[in-house]
Amino acid sequence: MGAPGAGKGTQAKIISEKLSIPTISTGDILREAVKNHTSVGLKAKGYLDEGNLVPDDMVIGIVKERLVEKDCANGYILDGMPRTIVQAKALEDACVDIETALLIKIVDEEVITRITGRRTCGTCNATFHIRTKPSKSGIRCEKCYGTLIIREDDQPETVKNRLRVYHEETEPLIDFYKDRGKLKSVDNQDTIEKTTEVILEILGI
Ligand code: AMP
Repeated sequence: MGAPGAGKGTQAKIISEKLSIPTISTGDILREAVKNHTSVGLKAKGYLDEGNLVPDDMVIGIVKERLVEKDCANGYILDGMPRTIVQAKALEDACVDIETALLIKIVDEEVITRITGRRTCGTCNATFHIRTKPSKSGIRCEKCYGTLIIREDDQPETVKNRLRVYHEETEPLIDFYKDRGKLKSVDNQDTIEKTTEVILEILGI
């Protein structure tokens, strides 16, 4: 968990490689659906473009389908889901046992600076940052050589809306998981590497 731009996706990918378990990013799944013009993508596009949450039913369905795939048998990292109390309760109802809810804390001003510098690969979704994590291949992705783009929802006005949505809809999950004794939190550090170090320590990996 964490505000947009907190580094959830970046850290999830690093940790999932370390543990050899998949990261399930609802944001990536939805963006892929939009790109491929699937029926889910067509329904989701407007919400994504404006920085609003897609309806709970839609993400709950997507995640439930994804979690029964073979590669999830030994665990997984959920990135960006749950984002509402309704989604968190739906996971509990489906007996999805979340071991740890990890919160990356970041202040809103830092979010704006970060997101406006973010560049995303249009082909493989890898993320870079012009200041903190530039691609070694310049304007192309260093992993697949795809073109780096600014996500539609990383535009400043949309980011402000995403922050508002985060505070209103997602922040209540902090108490939800605290009450269940599952919450662990980390302050966002100066570098990606330092944040990873603290997370691994907190998780005891
Ligand atoms: P992210 O890449 O996690 O920042 O997600 C990008 C966008 O996808 C969000 O701004 C929402 O529009 C949508 N989205 C991703 N995950 C969820 C979720 N769990 N519930 C509702 N909308 C979501």
